[in-house]
Amino acid sequence: YYDVLIVGAGHAGAQAAISLRQHGFEGSVAMIGDEKDPPYERPPLSKEYFAGDKSFDRILIRPAAFWGERNIDMLLGRRVKSVDPVGKFVTVGGEEIGYGKLIWCTGGTPRMLTCNGADASNVHAVRRRDDVDAMMAKLDSISHVTIIGGGYIGLEAAAVLTKFGKTVVLLEALDRVLARVAGEQLSRFYEAEHRAHGVDLRTGARMDCIEVVDGKATAVLMEDGERIETDMVIVGIGIIPETGPLIAAGAAGGNGVDVDEYCRTSLPDIYAVGDCAAHANRFAGGAQMRLESVQNANDQAKVAVAHILGKEEAYNAVPWFWSNQYDLKLQTVGLSTGFDQAITRGDPATRSFSVVYLKGGKVIALDCVNMVKDYVQGRAHVLSGAALDLTQLADASVPLKEVGL
Ligand code: FAD
Repeated sequence: YYDVLIVGAGHAGAQAAISLRQHGFEGSVAMIGDEKDPPYERPPLSKEYFAGDKSFDRILIRPAAFWGERNIDMLLGRRVKSVDPVGKFVTVGGEEIGYGKLIWCTGGTPRMLTCNGADASNVHAVRRRDDVDAMMAKLDSISHVTIIGGGYIGLEAAAVLTKFGKTVVLLEALDRVLARVAGEQLSRFYEAEHRAHGVDLRTGARMDCIEVVDGKATAVLMEDGERIETDMVIVGIGIIPETGPLIAAGAAGGNGVDVDEYCRTSLPDIYAVGDCAAHANRFAGGAQMRLESVQNANDQAKVAVAHILGKEEAYNAVPWFWSNQYDLKLQTVGLSTGFDQAITRGDPATRSFSVVYLKGGKVIALDCVNMVKDYVQGRAHVLSGAALDLTQLADASVPLKEVGL
């Protein structure tokens, strides 16, 4: 039995445990995680860790000894199979572990292709350390990589692989990369960057299946009959939230477990936090959504812990995110979904610019490429939701903080 039991030892789980002890919580705490490692940062898996620029030790969220020092039991390499919300216990292997409060922080599982060949041994997802280690072990002996999916993970992987001198084909089914998360200008900018770095980036790409010889993918076959020879396939087409045991236990949810503003699920004493939690986000006009970001994982964990400790601090944090590709540092603040106007500040040709997204004349989000100043100063505009002078907004020589109403 633990007073607080955390399921999932990733970003959200780690933050929940850290916050509990930071607030002086003295009850018993355990974290159950099905990976073998203590919590580590996931973003470097498609960036510095994959590129070999950071060792695994350097991406640990806390040094391995931290958890024991804080009296947090780490039950690693173990997977929770079911939750009993009435008896208040979870099952792990044959064991039942009781809880006072349960924080569900299980993230998501990569969505995989469903076509023939999708299960070949050299078809990889990028979610866990093990996924990336498996790819890294093969890199020296391969030259052609096909990436399926033009989201952040696919694009970041492409940037790393070109650095290693690999021949990269990137296939995006929609008519532009980053279609789900950014406006068209940003998509076109990144498409051009990747092509300039030698990536054979194709949008509107219709793949049919994967050709497999002796259990290994040898080519990606396109609907039009084209055969793209490949030594490795990387699939980055999104995740499916890990909610099975909670939904089976009766928690409300569909795409993720539904939570309220304190990250409470519909089940008593059970919270859900991070990639798996569907919440009404103020910055999306209150729409129910899941956010897949370190910001959301950390901030929701803090809200759930505060609530457990008797403080009602509704989740209201400004969303932010980043992506590193080549020498480009993208920083985003706010949520651009549903924008009706996009204003560019600066010239994309200089590789330093921002896109300001507006809805009904109000700033709702910014995408800033090598433009830290706009990122920092734009945040206040996203928060205030004020309508700004559009001429000044479009003039990059006017600092964002000085743009008037
Ligand atoms: P996770 O960190 O995924 O942790 C969940 C943990 O729970 C996992 O270890 C999982 O194995 C475990 N688990 C699942 N089910 C069970 C179970 N039944 N029992 C026990 N354990 C279980 N975000 C950014 O903000 N910026 C970025 O640049 C960025 N880049 C990314 C790059 C990559 C390659 C990936 C994969 C993600 C990236 N993200 C980025 C997203 C970010 O990493 C996630 O939003 C964040 O990890 C979510 O934290 P979480 O705790 O909800 O889930």
